[in-house]
Amino acid sequence: MIQCVAIIGLGLLGGSVGLALQESLPQVATTGYDADPSVREQAAERGLVGTVCASAAEAVKHADLVILCVPVGAMEAAAREMAHALPQHAIVSDVGSSKATVGEALGRALPDHLVIPAHPVAGTERSGPDAGFASLFRNRWCILTPAPDAPEQAVADVSALWESLGATVEIMDPVHHDRVLAVTSHLPHLIAYTIVGTASDLEEVTRGEVIKYSAGGFRDFTRIAASDPTMWRDVFLANREAVLEMLGRFTEDLTALQRAIRNSDGDTLFDLFTRTRAIRRSIVEQGQDDERADFGRSDHAIDNRD
Ligand code: NAP
Repeated sequence: MIQCVAIIGLGLLGGSVGLALQESLPQVATTGYDADPSVREQAAERGLVGTVCASAAEAVKHADLVILCVPVGAMEAAAREMAHALPQHAIVSDVGSSKATVGEALGRALPDHLVIPAHPVAGTERSGPDAGFASLFRNRWCILTPAPDAPEQAVADVSALWESLGATVEIMDPVHHDRVLAVTSHLPHLIAYTIVGTASDLEEVTRGEVIKYSAGGFRDFTRIAASDPTMWRDVFLANREAVLEMLGRFTEDLTALQRAIRNSDGDTLFDLFTRTRAIRRSIVEQGQDDERADFGRSDHAIDNRD
């Protein structure tokens, strides 16, 4: 039974897990730690967890479950920092956006502990302790990537906890997770960063007109491209192989479109745009987004689902 959860990293994800746990499972004690003292201060002010601790060791010493909510590239260091104080029975999990290399890093840092990696497919382009909110995981997927020999009961306990926060849990192989997320999340972010970067370079040529007359499509890209630089740098470095594979496919498809435009091949363009419109329709039908203006995004509902 999970009675005490320690959260390491109190930004958007850590703060949201803390708030959601306190709302949905008030009987579970929550502790938290962040490397940044100002984040710890803000976390205490907002009550992101029951007790904000001054060290990782203090936060985890009574934990049944530790959830690492730090950037992917900081997972191993964060795990090592708390290792000596971690109770033997404690399960270690995380929320990192890539899973294969994170699972390996946690296994290296905590060879004597049970690690059940997780990725709640829920997020926004905001970060830090002010960005978290309790409903972030409601009606979202949470993908767990346990080792095949992980004890069933522990996997069930971690699954049940995420379900209590409103998520639907899916179990997946970590390498498969990374290929799926490379195409549904990581590549779109890379494209958004590229388009906004290119437009910003062009801005000098067109004296600000790209920004001034930016259309809805471009504005949507700027929202995604405002996502946290540390987090996304780490995701691309950690999920290098899968992202490069998907980027290769994407580049080939882009070249085919370039050829179609050059050859005035309207049929190719029309066929593709018809197919992609149907995909959008399926996403709405499956409840993954809705048709409301601005895709129904309100202040808090701004949603990258990554
Ligand atoms: P965030 O808002 O920047 O929060 C991360 C926090 O962790 C920061 O306050 C950071 O402090 C702290 N930290 C870094 N290293 C640490 C360490 N060794 N020990 C303790 N604290 C440490 O980032 P986030 O958006 O919550 O992302 C956290 C994780 O969630 C990432 O692995 C990301 O891939 C995953 N995720 C994010 C989203 C999303 O949409 N944002 C969605 C799903 C999953 P400093 O700023 O001082 O380094």
